[in-house]
Amino acid sequence: MTQPIIGIDLGTTNSLIAVFEEGAPRLLANALGHRLTPSVVSFDDGAVLVGEAARDRQTTHPKQTAAAFKRAMGTETTFALGPKSLRAEELSSLVLRKLKDDAEAALGQTIRDVVVSVPAYFNQGQRQATMAACAMADLNAVRLVNEPTAAALAYGLQDREGESQFLVFDLGGGTFDVTVLEHFDGVMEVKASSGDAFLGGEDFSEALAKTMADKIGTPWAKLGADIQQQLRLQADVAKRHLSGKDEYEARIKIDSTHHGLTLTRTDFETACAALIKRLHRPIERCFYDTGLDTDGLDRVILVGGATRMPMIRQMVARQFRRLPEMTIDPDHAVALGAAVQAALVAHDRALDDVVMTDVSPFSVGIETATRLKNGTSIHGFFQPIIERNTPLPASRQQIFSTMSDNQTNLRIDIYQGEAPKVSDNVHLGRFDINVPKGKAGQESMFVRVTYDPSGLIEVEATSISTGKQAGIVISDNVSNLTEADIAKKLKQMQAFKMHPREDEANVTFMARIRRLYEMAAGDDRHMLQDILMAFEAALEGQDPAEIARMRGDMGETLDRIDDYYVS
Ligand code: ADP
Ligand code: MG
Repeated sequence: MTQPIIGIDLGTTNSLIAVFEEGAPRLLANALGHRLTPSVVSFDDGAVLVGEAARDRQTTHPKQTAAAFKRAMGTETTFALGPKSLRAEELSSLVLRKLKDDAEAALGQTIRDVVVSVPAYFNQGQRQATMAACAMADLNAVRLVNEPTAAALAYGLQDREGESQFLVFDLGGGTFDVTVLEHFDGVMEVKASSGDAFLGGEDFSEALAKTMADKIGTPWAKLGADIQQQLRLQADVAKRHLSGKDEYEARIKIDSTHHGLTLTRTDFETACAALIKRLHRPIERCFYDTGLDTDGLDRVILVGGATRMPMIRQMVARQFRRLPEMTIDPDHAVALGAAVQAALVAHDRALDDVVMTDVSPFSVGIETATRLKNGTSIHGFFQPIIERNTPLPASRQQIFSTMSDNQTNLRIDIYQGEAPKVSDNVHLGRFDINVPKGKAGQESMFVRVTYDPSGLIEVEATSISTGKQAGIVISDNVSNLTEADIAKKLKQMQAFKMHPREDEANVTFMARIRRLYEMAAGDDRHMLQDILMAFEAALEGQDPAEIARMRGDMGETLDRIDDYYVS
């Protein structure tokens, strides 16, 4: 049996795995039998917990728990986890390792090759960090796929015939992506992608948390970090309730005082007005780049958990003058599409008639300088060579000349972005090329940028007079790490003991009891204490059937308390 390539949606909030089998993508369940694995990591007694148990420990053990680290991918930011301090890609690698374990258990085979989805708006640094996270998890990312493209693949596979222009609107926990595609008898072409890498459901929760602080009567900035965190978590719960009803009663405990807060949908929507405004810009950019307008669209597809908010659906309906579609669960579309992309990479016969082409989400170019009339020169200008939203693969070249007399060396600095000054764009790499001495402007060279569909960027300079070449490949090796660095990282990350699978349901169950205990009061607390004791006694007894039975029986009581206090 050949090893399948697995599709992974590595989300800010939740991650999912899917496999393509018998002509269709299918989600795989984790050890708890759930398809969504919270992208949360917690340290407990030297073992790493990933998923639901870790998420429940956010309230009870905030200092040992990290969440929403996808937002820090590609940065130096570290997250303190008890005695350790980890970067976003290291934390992501722990999530990936858990997903790998779960996929292997579900399929009964080892997994190495994966297709991982990333926000279309991720720059090269963020993409490299994602590749590095895979390598540290002993996974080989054969391809990164843009999340909205993946979602479109999942939808496109549903009805392969016909012609349509569609827009994918993906609002997740931390990022917003919008993509316009054309679909014609199985051929899908991305026309344009745009987005905001710092706008997602978490921002809506944060806005509501601040409203809650106002209602309590303490300015947000005056609250301690732990209270802020508690309010954020409570706001996240309130937000979900306000998707289904007009009013929600939140109960907050600050220092031992309980506050009951009535939150209305209007309160929430007022708090988010500025966020809603920010959604418009990427949409306008997409329309500008494609020359399309709302009337040219046939379908609008919603993806991402945050599109469950009524204010988002209203905004989309108003903006595009049509009802958005959610026929595939907005939580599932990206992972399903990643599995479809994996099958395309593997040349699955079932997809012989499906073709997908994507675009470069950013412009790629080099730094240039200009000489002024008085002889001085000014530096730091960006000259795009491949413009954003160019269909991939793409290869373009431009001619550049020397700036000074007798210059023998030309430095090529490569950037990605849309700003006119390179200092506002992302630096991708640099190299030098030698040129023969001559008068300023006499020596020139071609600079060629080649961008392939997997996100590999190659830059090559050729001196016109000598034919000599120099160049670099960006992102082919993972975030400039050598093979040895990767092997070392992999070893370091493997030294983290993952929590044993057999025990996961129990650990998750206990983490949940502890979280509820912190939240609850009075009789409920007594009941939770009793449940905890009885459950620990059952664990001592080491009879798996008895333990599972208790989890089932007591689960109902926990659900009731959960409903009352939090969700
Ligand atoms: P990501 O892809 O970034 O992991 P998801 O697509 O899983 O994100 O979406 C997570 C976001 O969706 C979170 O901010 C979460 O609070 C929000 N969300 C999930 N369900 C709902 C709901 N019913 N109402 C409002 N927001 C929701
Ligand atoms: Mg997502």
